[in-house]
Amino acid sequence: MGEFDTATEGTIRLACFIGVLAIMSISEVFLPRRPLVARKSWRWASNLILVAINIGLVRVLIPVTAVAAAMTGEDRGWGGLHLVEWPAWLEFVLAVAAFDFAIYLQHVLFHAVPLLWRVHRVHHADLDLDVTTGVRFHTLEILLSALIKIGAVMVIGPSPVAVIAFEVLLNASSLFNHSNVDLPSRLDRMLRWLIVTPDMHRVHHSVLPNETNSNFGFNLPWWDYLLGTYLPQPREGHLQMTIGLMEVREERVADRLDQMLLLPFCRLSAPEETEFGPKGKPPRVG
Ligand SMILES: [Zn+2]
Ligand SMILES: [Zn+2]
Repeated sequence: MGEFDTATEGTIRLACFIGVLAIMSISEVFLPRRPLVARKSWRWASNLILVAINIGLVRVLIPVTAVAAAMTGEDRGWGGLHLVEWPAWLEFVLAVAAFDFAIYLQHVLFHAVPLLWRVHRVHHADLDLDVTTGVRFHTLEILLSALIKIGAVMVIGPSPVAVIAFEVLLNASSLFNHSNVDLPSRLDRMLRWLIVTPDMHRVHHSVLPNETNSNFGFNLPWWDYLLGTYLPQPREGHLQMTIGLMEVREERVADRLDQMLLLPFCRLSAPEETEFGPKGKPPRVG
């Protein structure tokens, strides 16, 4: 496969994943933002086994990686970036930004289309938000996302290096912005110019629909600013807000691996009361 074989790409990505996971999980122990409500051991086991299943199945079911697609595209001149002779650094920056915009649009789509939302709600059903939520995606979402990424490579025409850099960045930023880490508010405000912070993404995991349908960005926060989907803070504050889905409040449903895998196929009834339910808290169902 030329300069980047699948094994090299896999090793780079796995090493970055384990490194960032270790840094963020240790930071969460010493600088927690919120107390966790669900059993951590159970959640962590389910979320991490799910990511292992996903990595294995993508390898088996989708033989073409986005990097291999980029190499083919480079040979044949496919994609917008191959239409102009850019300086290498500018092409790299444009490719990463364009890829990030594609992932933003994909995320909006997974909220807007009911069938896709069924799959994506596994990510949102987590009762807590911590570093492992950053990799908690239903297998179908990961498979669809892998295909969408290959399509994005064909349209954008990034170099293979830009694709690897983006994949590593996406994974690292997802672990970072889902982490339960208490950053000083001044640092949070400064970082929000450049990257999505944990406080910014936590708003997206609120049970309140208008908060869930905001802050879709994973790496760059700019798409939310530009397209009007930015919400700076949760209405109830970061300590009081409720994380998850109104329809899934039971630990055995939210955090058990078999239930997580079945969740897209379950009919969930929304609580009858709007917004916060009867007494200011989401009702327990399931
Ligand atoms: Zn979402
Ligand atoms: Zn998320």
